[in-house]
Amino acid sequence: MTAAIIDGKAFAATLRARVGELATAFEAKAGRKAGLAVVLVGEDPASQVYVRSKGKSTLEAGMNSFEHKLPADTSEADLLAVVEALNADVAVDGILVQLPLPKHIDEQKVIAAINPDKDVDGFHVTNAGRLAVGQPGFVPCTPLGCLMLLKDRLGDLSGLDAVVIGRSNIVGKPMAQLLISESCTVTVAHSRTKDLADVVRRADIVVAAVGRPEMVKGDWIKPGATVIDVGINRVPGAEAGKTRLVGDVDYASAAAVASAITPVPGGVGPMTIAVLLRNTLVAAYRNAGLVLAADAV
Ligand code: NDP
Repeated sequence: MTAAIIDGKAFAATLRARVGELATAFEAKAGRKAGLAVVLVGEDPASQVYVRSKGKSTLEAGMNSFEHKLPADTSEADLLAVVEALNADVAVDGILVQLPLPKHIDEQKVIAAINPDKDVDGFHVTNAGRLAVGQPGFVPCTPLGCLMLLKDRLGDLSGLDAVVIGRSNIVGKPMAQLLISESCTVTVAHSRTKDLADVVRRADIVVAAVGRPEMVKGDWIKPGATVIDVGINRVPGAEAGKTRLVGDVDYASAAAVASAITPVPGGVGPMTIAVLLRNTLVAAYRNAGLVLAADAV
């Protein structure tokens, strides 16, 4: 078997176009654009790239982008004051504080300061709680993107065995919650899991969010399973001094067994920003008291 490639790049482009249409409709109804504020503290090069890319995509979707770049020595109190000002600003529907923050700032305290109804990253405990009990809220972008790809590929997920490898608050745990709410039978594996290969072999759906290059091998995969590879790992390339990106799944051996698989790059990665825009749009409709159909985007 050679697996079908799940084209996250194409899916994300379609999602972004749909968000753009709905953002235009929002502007006509609300008399203002939807707006996303991104706060960056310090000059971490990877974070700078992410923030630039988020800003550009936000503008392309017809929304306002408010960038707040603060120096690395910004105090926690000053950052909290910026978050408070954004909470109060009616032009701002979504607030994203780029992580990681400098060591002298308590990340949890900053996330807790964001109004949960503007927390488009879905990291606030209120949104984690809403997800756990099945109330509307904001779900972290990467796992929600994974779920969209799975439903697009498989339709109804009810009754399927899913194994999520990784239990972070950003990916693994919310992914497990989403799959439970789709009526999958969910196993969450992590660094203490015994016989991981055997656990993974049970799965109709494998979501790998580990951060270990090509750890999941083809002979761990049940024939016909669907594999979602969240991992983004930089490893030495074929040419000296060059690097390349690989996932947490050994793509070649897994693709020989699975029925469908996300590539790295071009799979889950592009979904994260597309879902961030989607969450901002949903926030804008809610904050303006406008109705957006549940299946609109
Ligand atoms: P974390 O480091 O926060 O979590 C990794 C998880 O993997 C932990 O739960 C850990 O277990 C588990 N783990 C580590 N080693 C093993 C092992 N040998 N066997 C089984 N489980 C193991 O990572 P994130 O969740 O933030 O990210 C995971 C991956 O996804 C990374 O490669 C990251 O770059 C990528 N990522 C990609 C995104 C995208 O946009 N596509 C967005 C976010 C992340 P334990 O809890 O026991 O330590």
